[in-house]
Amino acid sequence: MGFSAALFGWNLTLCAFVGARVLRSFPADGITRYAVGVIDEPHTLGMWKERVEEAKATFYAGLITARLDYQPEIVWPVAHMTKREVLDFLPPEVIEMASYCRNPAELWGNRFRPCGKCISCDTRRKIGHFP
Ligand SMILES: [Zn+2]
Repeated sequence: MGFSAALFGWNLTLCAFVGARVLRSFPADGITRYAVGVIDEPHTLGMWKERVEEAKATFYAGLITARLDYQPEIVWPVAHMTKREVLDFLPPEVIEMASYCRNPAELWGNRFRPCGKCISCDTRRKIGHFP
């Protein structure tokens, strides 16, 4: 059964797992950094420190059997930016590809409709980037 990655809510932990899988899927490329899209705004769900630790643990656990001869680094390239600054920085075609809704509803194929009710949809609406 296939599914579109945009059809369910992603979080730090799921991204870390996928990041580790991508890194180990291309060993010849010698990927040394995993970039996380965390922003400089208070996290509304709380337990922020624990969430970051969970993501780090998931990323490195996903590499235990990869037998790399180096330790990939986790980097936070937009952690100094607000969500609005990130959305203003990104090209529109990249924003369109990004999933942000925590509970998206499928419409057809790989197209989805944001729920409009979750915290991520609320944030997008407040900063003016809600489609
Ligand atoms: Zn939503």
